[in-house]
Order: sequence, then structure tokens, then C-alpha cells
Amino acid sequence: MENFTCTICATDLTTESIQIEKMNEIDVAFIICHECENRFNLMFDNKKTKNIKNKIKKIKEIENYLQLVLYREMLIVEDDYYKQAYDDLPQEEKDLIGGYQSNVDKQKIKEYNKIIKEKRFNFKDLLELL
Ligand SMILES: [Zn+2]
Repeated sequence: MENFTCTICATDLTTESIQIEKMNEIDVAFIICHECENRFNLMFDNKKTKNIKNKIKKIKEIENYLQLVLYREMLIVEDDYYKQAYDDLPQEEKDLIGGYQSNVDKQKIKEYNKIIKEKRFNFKDLLELL
């Protein structure tokens, strides 16, 4: 949420002054104008909306996880491409170059592996989203 302007007195209100009030099973996020004391209700939540919000959050985490898996695989494919290009060279050129030198950032792959391992999602995580 961004900054909010009081529609009564045009005072700029910051989201820092948002308060939450519980009414029965409903959470109401509201803001009170410090100038004219008008109250503005901004958002209403119940168990259902909170549940959906949590699912959306989870989906974003899964997307982020897949993004990392993709970046890692792209580095591996890149290395594969250059390795094959090297293998296709005539023998004299290979002798000149010496062995194949990988340019892939191994440290980066290690970092990806670590995060991917920590985050690992499973089928159950997906089922819970439905
Ligand atoms: Zn106001």
C-alpha cells in the first residue's frame, strides 16, 4: 500500500499509521487522520482471505525457487555448449589450447545448489495450494 491522502482534509497519511482492529472473525485495517480524526477502513480480512494470501505468498516462493533452478540449469547448459564446441575442434587446436577450461562460475552454482536444497518444495506443497 502506498501513501494515502485524507479525502476530507487532504492531509497526507503514511501507511505507518495503519492500525488493525478485530471485529468477531474479521480484521479491519484502518487509518485515522491525525488532522480531522476521520476514519478510513482500508482492508477487510477473514480466515478465507488470509488463507488465500498465504497461498499466493507460497506460489511466489515456489516461483522464486524455480527461477533459481532455471538459472543454475542455464549455467550448466552454457558450460555444455562450450565443452561441445571444444570437443568439435580439430586435434591440433585442442593440443594448442590444452584441456577444456570451464568458464562457468562454480561458486555461483554452489550458491544456487545451497539455496535450492534449503527451499526444496514437494508435491504436498503444491496440493495445499488447491
Ligand atoms: Zn483528514
